[in-house]
Amino acid sequence: MKKKIIKFIQFQLNLMGENAGLVDGILGPGTTEALNQIKGIPFQWPKTRKAVAFIQILAQKEGIETGEIDGYWGPQTAFAFESLEQVLIEKKDPIVWRPEDMEVQNPNNWPLQRPEDGLDKFYGPVGENQTRIALPYPHKLAWKTTTIVNSFFCHEKVHDSLLRVLSRVVDNYGLEEIQQLRLDLWGGCLNVRKKRGGTSYSLHSWGIAIDYDPGHNQLQWGRDRASFVKPDYDTWWRLWEEEGWLSLGRSRNFDWMHVQAAKI
Ligand SMILES: [Zn+2]
Repeated sequence: MKKKIIKFIQFQLNLMGENAGLVDGILGPGTTEALNQIKGIPFQWPKTRKAVAFIQILAQKEGIETGEIDGYWGPQTAFAFESLEQVLIEKKDPIVWRPEDMEVQNPNNWPLQRPEDGLDKFYGPVGENQTRIALPYPHKLAWKTTTIVNSFFCHEKVHDSLLRVLSRVVDNYGLEEIQQLRLDLWGGCLNVRKKRGGTSYSLHSWGIAIDYDPGHNQLQWGRDRASFVKPDYDTWWRLWEEEGWLSLGRSRNFDWMHVQAAKI
């Protein structure tokens, strides 16, 4: 298997939050372990077959015709890979997003998101130790904006920090701009579920992740499309980052709607 293809696979696995380690083009144990986390790839398949299946699964997700997910590299998979590269890699370059400028702050000592038992140790079992946060500015349900949300459940350990962030958002932007920028479109917090296409729990399961404006910041969108990339939102992200929260958009360039109280 070509190095270029393996690099592509490693890069995509890392984007999905499955730690494939360095993007070095070597199909080693780290990459294989990350492939094992992907739903739909049989565990007993050899690593090369798993890697090919991953390409096929990605292509299928993007609506590219791949035929059966069989883990065999044929002309159809080769074509699907080329199409995938076009869709997922050859995007325009960042305008605002500069990870090298980001200072990593962690005043609340949020834990790492891996391994999962580390999260359990810090936050307890999924779905537990929840409390209600009274919001400093009204939110609306993103998928039904006539529904006003004045409070929601979050983990008790993130409550105070979350309140500080949102209070600063009001101070910095004011209600009118909050509405203009759709910083009040709430996409959910506590939700006990497994990650899409994976076996590990979503960070929403602990009530430590929040989604905002999912319609303009869809899961697979990168900085060429997501609205939270724009300069207007830089302060928004800095307010979260000051409290140690992590934006998957700013750090990994996908799932721009999502912010979490766990490090990667
Ligand atoms: Zn999320």
